[in-house]
Amino acid sequence: MINLETPRKHAGLVDQAHQLAMNMLRPISRKYDRAEHTYPKELDMLAALIDGVSETGATGGAGAGGVRRETSSEEPGTVRNGANLASVLSVAEMCWGDTALLLSMPRQGLGNSAIASVANEEQLERYKGTWAAMAITEPGTGSDSANITTTAVKDGDEYVINGEKIYVTSGERADSVVVWATLDKELGRAAIKSFLVRKDNPGLTVERLEHKLGIRASDTAAITFTDCRVPAEDLLGSPEIDTKSGFAGAMATFDNTRPLVAAMAVGCARASLDLTRDLLEQAGVVIDHDRPPQSQSAAAATFLRLEADWEGAKLLMMQAAWMADNRLPNSLEASMAKAKAGRVGSDVTLSCVQLCGTLGYSEAELLEKWARDSKILDIFEGTQQIQQLIVARRILGLTSAELR
Ligand SMILES: Cc1cc2nc3c(=O)[nH]c(=O)nc-3n(C[C@H](O)[C@H](O)[C@H](O)COP(=O)(O)OP(=O)(O)OC[C@H]3O[C@@H](n4cnc5c(N)ncnc54)[C@H](O)[C@@H]3O)c2cc1C
Repeated sequence: MINLETPRKHAGLVDQAHQLAMNMLRPISRKYDRAEHTYPKELDMLAALIDGVSETGATGGAGAGGVRRETSSEEPGTVRNGANLASVLSVAEMCWGDTALLLSMPRQGLGNSAIASVANEEQLERYKGTWAAMAITEPGTGSDSANITTTAVKDGDEYVINGEKIYVTSGERADSVVVWATLDKELGRAAIKSFLVRKDNPGLTVERLEHKLGIRASDTAAITFTDCRVPAEDLLGSPEIDTKSGFAGAMATFDNTRPLVAAMAVGCARASLDLTRDLLEQAGVVIDHDRPPQSQSAAAATFLRLEADWEGAKLLMMQAAWMADNRLPNSLEASMAKAKAGRVGSDVTLSCVQLCGTLGYSEAELLEKWARDSKILDIFEGTQQIQQLIVARRILGLTSAELR
């Protein structure tokens, strides 16, 4: 049975991640928000520390890497609190420190989650230590990812990739990119495969970096692929086009990355709540968890409502990750977690700006930054509206053609 408390075995990891966030991310948070596109060199040491923690086997990685569905010899029915739960809990803590810096962490890219989800054992071994960005979005295709136009054509023992990808997180700094491309547009979504393309491939060009509202420490790149040749063994997963399983292969990535994005929103919102509580208390507002909100000041009642909403998001995040650890299909729960946490993240962080007035809006505190940073978490890896659509389809038993 699921128990939505932080498991005791992960308490040390959560505490460790919190300490790193407090002592290493928070102090450089404002600096790299202002110095957009400058690589936070302090992350090199932190990433090495995280690699060390992961190698002990004590965790599934403090970043976005440890999300593979492990096979296990345990008895069916045995409850596991594994790598996925460890990942979302530690990612939330790191984003309590700074979401953009977490997204900039070497070797912890969203592409690494894609590799963990769909690569075979041999590829996993070969790609060990790579830092992989993830490139799905194109100038004409965002939410409708089944319509991507980037092509991959087999030529001997290579694929030749042509197309343009935009808004690739860590697209400049990562050393490889997981690229979604179609093997045959006529065959629809089943023909979409992902490929690991190394950044030094001569057919790959980083065209520009985007200036953004939030997560400014994270680089966001536009990348073109021109007759970009990749070895056939860098197609992730199976090269077969199985029209029965449709989009299932590539989409499996999202079941793992959406709880992670939910975790980012949970962490960023928690940071806002913690600081807001301190600022309200300094201003003389008493927040009493033992009394009904309606009998307290408007500020205290609002704060309690925000905290309750945040709890809901955190529980859904944990449920989606726990299901992945226990090898239960979690597409529905991953989308629920992402939808709830994405909305709550934006709502909580902006409401905290409101509650703290001029201090909330000023750069004297990080509240305004967190409100800017959290918005993307309701957009990338599938927007709020798309998550709701997926949830509706799953609950009503309708296909994407029947409910669009
Ligand atoms: C900072 C940043 C980082 C990013 N990082 C990455 C990355 O690393 N890799 C990557 O591949 N992409 C990345 N993206 C792209 C992101 O995933 C897309 O922006 C997102 O999927 C939405 O696509 P779109 O922008 O084309 O909007 P559209 O799909 O055009 O949607 C526009 C609006 O319409 C709504 N909408 C669309 N379809 C429907 C529907 N059927 N029903 C109801 N509403 C609908 C959407 O919710 C949205 O509000 C990033 C984007 C940003 C801003």
